[in-house]
Amino acid sequence: MSSSISNKILAWYKKHKRDLPWRSYQNQSDRHYKVLLSEFMLQQTQVKTVIPYFNNFYKKIPRIDLLAKTRLDRINKLWQGLGYYRRAKNLLQTAQIISDKYNSRLPSTYDKLINLPGIGDYTAKAILSIAFDKSEIGIDGNVKRVFSRLHNIKDNKKILIKLNEVKVKKNSSSLMQGIMELGALICRPKKPLCDQCCLNFTCKFFNGLKKNSKKKSLTKIKVRKFYALIYIVKKKILLNFETKFGPLNGFLNVPLLEVSEKKLKNNITALFSKKFTFSVNHKINIFISNFKADITLVEIKPSDLTKIKLNQFKFYSNDQLKKEFVSSFLKKILSKIKFL
Ligand code: SF4
Repeated sequence: MSSSISNKILAWYKKHKRDLPWRSYQNQSDRHYKVLLSEFMLQQTQVKTVIPYFNNFYKKIPRIDLLAKTRLDRINKLWQGLGYYRRAKNLLQTAQIISDKYNSRLPSTYDKLINLPGIGDYTAKAILSIAFDKSEIGIDGNVKRVFSRLHNIKDNKKILIKLNEVKVKKNSSSLMQGIMELGALICRPKKPLCDQCCLNFTCKFFNGLKKNSKKKSLTKIKVRKFYALIYIVKKKILLNFETKFGPLNGFLNVPLLEVSEKKLKNNITALFSKKFTFSVNHKINIFISNFKADITLVEIKPSDLTKIKLNQFKFYSNDQLKKEFVSSFLKKILSKIKFL
């Protein structure tokens, strides 16, 4: 089971990893420097905040020996806006020690790393794993959350035991980054995307959810009726980012109307143009959170394209959609109409 967990994470990471600036490097010393710099910047700061600061810092100071010779006030200037300036000071001191003591080479043992300013247990293990491919896994918030849910355990010692079981001899760097990435993108603190998770086959949290939803379904299922508007022109489908439908807010979606049959025509008119025809094609049911969505797919055919009010909507081709995150809700609709 442990090896299937690590294999699943490695395969998922290979396919879905984000293109982050510290994940590409010219050679090993460039890799070590980028990992060191990114790990300092990522302490208490989110990836999306760090990216521009990392790029700018790396552009101005691209090597550890150059960093060691840089004045603190210049580093603080480059750090301005990231906060926690103690990290900048520690980074400089660490670079100076590496430069003096280790000939500007980042040490590759835990004992040496842990003695450098600003490097604690997590950062030392993360550097060993990510920069040197050593069989280590540092426990940060993302790693802890994934393994805590996976095995339904909270205790750090138990989490450590489970992490030790999935360690690999090769690709340790990808495994550690894969667990962190899974925590950041799929096993999110709120509303984890368990349906899309490569570990849901063995996840205790997910199994608990399924049992609970079965129990709920035996007692009372709320049904909500929607019309999903399908409008395709030149092999492109009209979509928008959902804002009115709680569980799907922020995700790409077809226009949804939660109205009675009587009011359907008026509501479509408000969205599109006065001249259109529509036909009701399919019906599908999708379970969302604690209710069943009873969805009628309505194919729209405006007869006068110039009068369409596009507002917040945008057309997507099949290829464009492949680059976007598509929720399982939208996927079901698109596969029903054979668009995906
Ligand atoms: S199945 Fe859900 S809870 Fe379990 S690891 Fe994946 S995202 Fe997290």
